[in-house]
Amino acid sequence: MRKTIAVISGDGIGPEIVGQAVCVLQRIAQRFAHDFTFAPAPMGGCAIDAYGKSLPDESLNTCLAADAVLLGAVGGPKWDGVEKENRPEKALLRLRSALGLYANLRPAQLFSQLADASPLRADIVANGIDFLVVRELIGGIYFGNHQTEQIDGEPVATDTMRYSRSEIERIARIAFEAARKRRGHVTSVDKSNVLDCSRLWKQTVDAVAVHYPDVTLRHMLVDNCAMQIVRDPSQFDVILTENMFGDILSDEASMITGSVGIIPSASLGEGSRGLYEPIHGSAPDIAGQDKADPIGTILSAAMMLRYSFDLKREADTIENAVSKVLDAGYRTADIAGLGTTVIGCAEMGERIAAEI
Ligand code: NAD
Repeated sequence: MRKTIAVISGDGIGPEIVGQAVCVLQRIAQRFAHDFTFAPAPMGGCAIDAYGKSLPDESLNTCLAADAVLLGAVGGPKWDGVEKENRPEKALLRLRSALGLYANLRPAQLFSQLADASPLRADIVANGIDFLVVRELIGGIYFGNHQTEQIDGEPVATDTMRYSRSEIERIARIAFEAARKRRGHVTSVDKSNVLDCSRLWKQTVDAVAVHYPDVTLRHMLVDNCAMQIVRDPSQFDVILTENMFGDILSDEASMITGSVGIIPSASLGEGSRGLYEPIHGSAPDIAGQDKADPIGTILSAAMMLRYSFDLKREADTIENAVSKVLDAGYRTADIAGLGTTVIGCAEMGERIAAEI
């Protein structure tokens, strides 16, 4: 198979973790006789420094022309003062929007080898954690109007949340389809006791559910969901929710599985092209020290093979390689536990590639 992968290394630990994921993909290409071309696409703070723009046109075009995009992370304190429209995080929102990626899929799965790393009690973890958060990605409050004005002598800020029925329908279908491939249960999360957007959300999800009689659906308020995720995460299969709630709940979900460093994500739209990235940020506190955990990025590469290229065997091979390295007791510092061997980012990547 011949594929072009746009590579956005980004800022902070981005280049370190993406470097390891690319090595793993190269090893996969070698072993399974594929031809992957890696096309660099500078974005984020590094692109502001080099080109004056957080998302240069050339980088956007590289991503639009690619079969999939692999991203590390962007941003950092150095660029916090940059004007709003050119901030690194804005580049990410623009890229997702330009690629038409409206669905974000984040698995929250506890590797049994890392059960000790979960902050939850052992008896809660013993029931297993294996659910998928399906988050709407290009609508809602993050894409509404934002303004700050002076009223009665003080600044007043307003952000608007907006959803159309069709935006809700298409993300709901993604969640129901995903549930069909899993354990057949969707929990739709909203704040319908307060928000009109949530009432439309609930009605629309109910209407979509009619077409999936084999999938069970329940609704849950977002504040309750935040509690239930730590009380009994085993009750969830697929969580379907809007952009901001999904942003928050998926971070909570990742934390209970041990480390933000090991969780991958996929962002999908209508075609097969997707954007694959770990869920964490650029971790400026550990950048350049070979301390970053590359597993989230490497598992994101596995999701790319599964969702964009339909290469299930190759994706399984990466996931098994990660599991074998964890079985052997190797950990980066963020997931280290008693009796494990702490290694750096590069060695973790090399060990995983060597298992392929
Ligand atoms: P962060 O995720 O970068 O870091 C939070 C904590 O987790 C830090 O202690 C960090 O060291 C640790 N951590 C994160 N990834 C790790 C990894 N792979 N291995 C080991 N430890 C890891 O969040 P933050 O500090 O809030 O944000 C830092 C910067 O990243 C900010 O500029 C923020 O805007 C940006 N950010 C970017 C993205 C993205 O590119 N998608 C997402 C979130 C934050």
